[in-house]
Amino acid sequence: MTTTETNTVRAPHGGRDRAHVVVLGGGYGGHLAAQALAVRTDARITLVNDGDRFTQRIRLHEAAVGQEPAAPRYVDLLAGTGVAFVDDRAVGLDPAARRVRLRDGDPLDYDLLVLALGSRPDPDALPGPVFEVSSAEGAARLRERLAADDVGRVAVVGGGLTGLELATELGETGRPTTLVTDGALGADLSARGARHVREVCDRLGIEVVEHARAVAAHDDGLTLADGRTVAADIVVGTTGFTVPSLAREAGLAVDEHGRVLVDAALRSRSHPEILAVGDAAAATRPDGQVLRMACATALPAAQQAARTVAALLAGTAPRPLRFRFAIRCISLGRRDGLVQFVQPDDSPRELVVTGRLAAAVKEAIVVNALRVQRHPRIPTGA
Ligand SMILES: Cc1cc2nc3c(=O)[nH]c(=O)nc-3n(C[C@H](O)[C@H](O)[C@H](O)COP(=O)(O)OP(=O)(O)OC[C@H]3O[C@@H](n4cnc5c(N)ncnc54)[C@H](O)[C@@H]3O)c2cc1C
Repeated sequence: MTTTETNTVRAPHGGRDRAHVVVLGGGYGGHLAAQALAVRTDARITLVNDGDRFTQRIRLHEAAVGQEPAAPRYVDLLAGTGVAFVDDRAVGLDPAARRVRLRDGDPLDYDLLVLALGSRPDPDALPGPVFEVSSAEGAARLRERLAADDVGRVAVVGGGLTGLELATELGETGRPTTLVTDGALGADLSARGARHVREVCDRLGIEVVEHARAVAAHDDGLTLADGRTVAADIVVGTTGFTVPSLAREAGLAVDEHGRVLVDAALRSRSHPEILAVGDAAAATRPDGQVLRMACATALPAAQQAARTVAALLAGTAPRPLRFRFAIRCISLGRRDGLVQFVQPDDSPRELVVTGRLAAAVKEAIVVNALRVQRHPRIPTGA
């Protein structure tokens, strides 16, 4: 980093004494970044989120089948931290003026910005009537539809982590469920991991359709690329995520998915006064591997973003994000799960933990992902 860049980020807007750091998006990454900033810096901090409650996104498959995950209010989570909360939607960004345009409120000027707007399902990924579980509203819509008398079988499209978690959650409630995946079931798991997932699907009566690419959803099911059909009363999509277009439209350097290209300290490669974390950032490991969209990567990135801002405000060089994958945890209903041990690059090792113990480990991790939102010093892996 050059001295000029350091001085640029240190100059507060309008001659104020304290720098103003604005965080856009109050999910796992953004809310934790705001909390960690409050602990690590004396900057003025404003968190903007389009909704006044924190969504435990990693519990939305549970919400879809009728459970009620806690959704704490931001004002309660942030009480005593000094972080200002704005319930509004960011609709534009002017990096030259260092200004965020909001849908309802006055524009916000910043000295440093942390982008954490997350991801959402790509509406073009699967045409037709498709439910989703990536937002609280989406999970609520699915839950309501599942309560209707005319709904029997559900087709879940996508054999990744979210698809597996949702299909098994549905299967455990006795819901006839079909899981459609374009590869082999558990293809990115170890042989033992994949075997366990298959056993759980068998036990729960989940019909698994493998090597099948869904190309369209209908009121009575799915059409596959090879012309076959899958009968279902409703279809839930869990593949094809995209990120908000705000960064791209503002001229930030982004990858082909619209994720902000960031350096090792999570600063935008094109606009170093902007940092990005979570699903909306293309953060990389030292070997160049782009971190996958996950709560597991958003949390350490958020803590790193706060360290980077603290370094920039102190006029020192920020250190790089250090991140190694260790485990992947998948809930398979409430009473079973899979802890897949992985190499630092996320490739599976043969070691797995299954059954109730794995379910308990996964539950502890999910609890901790909320706990760290109140206690931002808890280590999360960075
Ligand atoms: C059902 C399900 C289960 C999952 N399970 C796991 C798991 O077990 N492990 C794991 O690692 N990952 C899991 N994930 C993925 C994980 O939820 C995401 O990777 C994680 O939430 C990303 O965090 P984030 O802060 O980038 O985005 P989010 O948590 O999505 O937060 C983004 C926030 O920005 C707000 N926002 C968006 N646009 C605007 C705007 N224009 N203005 C203001 N606010 C805005 C949103 O309302 C939201 O609050 C799961 C995802 C789903 C859907």
